[in-house]
Amino acid sequence: MVVAIDGPAGAGKSTVARATAKALGFKYLDSGAMYRAVALALLEQGGAASDRARELDIVIGERVLCSGRDVTEAIRAPEVSEGASRVATNEKVRAALADKQRALLADGDWVAEGRDIGTVVAPEAPVKVYLVADPAQRARRRAVELGTDAETVLRDQALRDAQDEGREHSPLKPAEDAVEVDTTHLTVEQVVERIAGLVRAAQAR
Ligand code: C5P
Repeated sequence: MVVAIDGPAGAGKSTVARATAKALGFKYLDSGAMYRAVALALLEQGGAASDRARELDIVIGERVLCSGRDVTEAIRAPEVSEGASRVATNEKVRAALADKQRALLADGDWVAEGRDIGTVVAPEAPVKVYLVADPAQRARRRAVELGTDAETVLRDQALRDAQDEGREHSPLKPAEDAVEVDTTHLTVEQVVERIAGLVRAAQAR
């Protein structure tokens, strides 16, 4: 089965999705890493975004490999975050990456995180979670991860949110049947337990 975890930047998706996959023994897909890999390739080499998205061989595991090169750290740079959000507005890029994601999710049990997993990539997923958190709290978490100041992160985050929510193709929004979980005052363990409960309920159906 697919467990879809969507939500804005910094709501805790990566940490929660990784921990949930580990707790359930499911595989983990970080779909954002694909958008980041395309953005990095464009920043470094230019070219047409849709061609890059189709042609790049992106392998996402413990490390992220892009056509054989380890880009795990490089794709986390702030300019790549901004580039990913921009390239994610391109319909052809989205179609190419959604195809790659669906091919992976077709086989086995997965926790997949992103912005459009529950709405576009895997609308049939039996468990859909939409994570939200207070913006200032999200910025503080991201600042700790990046080692930068929360004010800068808050500004960049607001820009990315606006871009992700306002884009024409697959905008960031909860699926109609998604369960919204506000992580502001919850620990990672509490959120994982909540999702594991939803998975158990889906398995029992
Ligand atoms: O999740 P992460 O911050 O790594 O994603 C980087 C960017 O990729 C996001 O800001 C968003 O614009 C885009 N994205 C997307 N759809 C996804 C995953 C990420 O549009 N499923």
